[in-house]
Amino acid sequence: MVDVVVVGAGFAGMYALHTFRRQGLSVQVIEAGSDVGGTWYWNRYPGARCDVPSLEYSFGFSESLEQDWSWPEVFSAQPEILKYANHIADRFDLRRDIKFNSRVVEVRYDETNNKWRLRTESGETFSAKYCVMATGCLSVPNKPELPGAEQFGGLELHTGLWPKDEPDLSGLKVGIVGTGSSGVQAIPELAKMCGELTVFQRTPVYTVPANRKAMRTAVEQEFKDNYRDIRARQQDNQGGVSNFRPVKSVPKNAGLSVEQPYRANEIKPLTPAARRSQLEQKGLGEILNFRDVYTDTEANEIANDLFRDFVREMVADPEVAERLLPKDYGLGCKRQVLDRDYYATFNRDNVTLVDVRDTPIQQITTNGVQTTSQHFDLDALIYATGFDAMTGALLKSDIHGRGDRTLNEKWQYGPQAYLGLQMEGFPNLFTVTGPGSPSVLCNMLVAIEQHVNWISEAINYVESSGLRTMEPTEAAELDWVAHVNSVAEGTMYTAPSCNSWYLGANIPNKPRIFMPYVGGYPQYRERCEAIVANAYEGFQFT
Ligand code: FAD
Ligand code: NAP
Repeated sequence: MVDVVVVGAGFAGMYALHTFRRQGLSVQVIEAGSDVGGTWYWNRYPGARCDVPSLEYSFGFSESLEQDWSWPEVFSAQPEILKYANHIADRFDLRRDIKFNSRVVEVRYDETNNKWRLRTESGETFSAKYCVMATGCLSVPNKPELPGAEQFGGLELHTGLWPKDEPDLSGLKVGIVGTGSSGVQAIPELAKMCGELTVFQRTPVYTVPANRKAMRTAVEQEFKDNYRDIRARQQDNQGGVSNFRPVKSVPKNAGLSVEQPYRANEIKPLTPAARRSQLEQKGLGEILNFRDVYTDTEANEIANDLFRDFVREMVADPEVAERLLPKDYGLGCKRQVLDRDYYATFNRDNVTLVDVRDTPIQQITTNGVQTTSQHFDLDALIYATGFDAMTGALLKSDIHGRGDRTLNEKWQYGPQAYLGLQMEGFPNLFTVTGPGSPSVLCNMLVAIEQHVNWISEAINYVESSGLRTMEPTEAAELDWVAHVNSVAEGTMYTAPSCNSWYLGANIPNKPRIFMPYVGGYPQYRERCEAIVANAYEGFQFT
């Protein structure tokens, strides 16, 4: 029996443990993996990398941690981020309160005793007054049901469940399904390491080249000298990034993030020659910085056309280039993808692109993939097919609230939560970066710190006021959900042509709802603060 049980030991669970301990609570963390790191523990595929600058995608709660840690690159690769997570676990002595290799399969509210009771796959049980689900927005890998998949006799991999011992793919015939962020990062690396690579693409992607600068000591030092100012700026930025520009050296786009690029100008008023010349001078990534692209359909189409022209120039075979062009949705609909040599990879002799819209996969065979046009012999098949995002990990945890009502019942038409922090009917249960919060539209470390701090303060309020339970009212929850929907309307994210995991569109039968809060991180944070200042408006207590 502890005060708080936390599910998940990614960055959210780790920071929750540290924070709750500091406020004098006893804490037990339960984690399915064998160590800390969450996303960066599971996603070890070749090319995995963060696209928020490392000096920003890092915790701000400890000044000494900020000063001591060094990042070798401006945008870190997975092994470096995992090292950082491990360092945090060691530095703050976190592992002694984390139960690893334990997947929570049931979370049940015991109303009589006001306790949350959790059960793991192995039958172990835990109980606590408070339950914090730090289970991640992108932690349940999606493996589509392709006919015959179970009979494949070769090596099967998923980017989100990559083995710790790097599989040796040298000389092998490898197939990969999926061209989202993970696929686009993995494909150039796989092409270099395997014999032949066949890419099974359903929807072409808009991807722009990533910054690949090594960290310069002077730039890092300037960040470290200004960290308090940088953290303050993150709090006031829509995507939780400071966009701090080091004076000593300003590598192009060094401080930019796909979450909140610097949107300087508009594309529509420019002449075609001026548009092209801007991209030629500044790189294709500049296309993301035209602010009208995200709100004006005509500007969006201009940008999409221009993007396609650039791809045609990068890919040698015109037929392959044509297949790589996104045509039925616009920039700004899906999570922006960044790459390293993605298009150039299709100029290699050992890479084949298969458009599974033209020639659908009929079935996975014992030794490859059969499409409507031919059989592809494969030694290994990689699924880069994404995640059951935002709600997947919560629903899979089988949460039962008051009166035995399950979260699955409550969310049958889509997620309903107040601020992405709590749900009516589930007293004292909190979610970190839950649906209805900025979460995946923000630098997630900033979002995580804000949520954990808010939850910590809320628990403190309940405890110090001698209260028993805390949960939102249904009215407050419904108002918030309506607000979340209304701010997403009219953006490219919810355009009728758009199908993204933000909308749940990647999972069959998932309700089509735009799940994250697009109104901006500062607006959201201020709302959370105002609610506290207003005696926890919208919450009810016993
Ligand atoms: P996670 O890291 O997902 O951790 C959740 C943990 O909970 C996991 O370890 C999981 O095993 C555990 N868990 C879940 N359910 C259970 C259960 N029932 N029982 C026990 N344990 C459970 N964000 C950015 O801001 N910038 C980026 O550039 C960026 N890049 C990304 C790249 C990839 C490949 C992916 C997949 C995500 C990326 N993200 C990025 C989002 C990333 O998920 C967050 O930045 C952050 O790491 C989330 O931390 P978390 O602790 O909330 O969740
Ligand atoms: P994703 O964006 O959902 O992409 C999945 C891919 O698999 C899509 O191309 C999808 O095609 C394809 N796919 C799914 N089912 C298929 C099927 N049955 N047949 C053929 N193709 C199928 O997933 P992801 O690439 O793992 O990325 C998820 C999120 O993780 C990102 O959006 C991002 O937030 C995060 N991430 C970030 C980075 C980074 O650079 N920082 C890197 C990796 C991941 P359709 O589009 O047609 O469905």
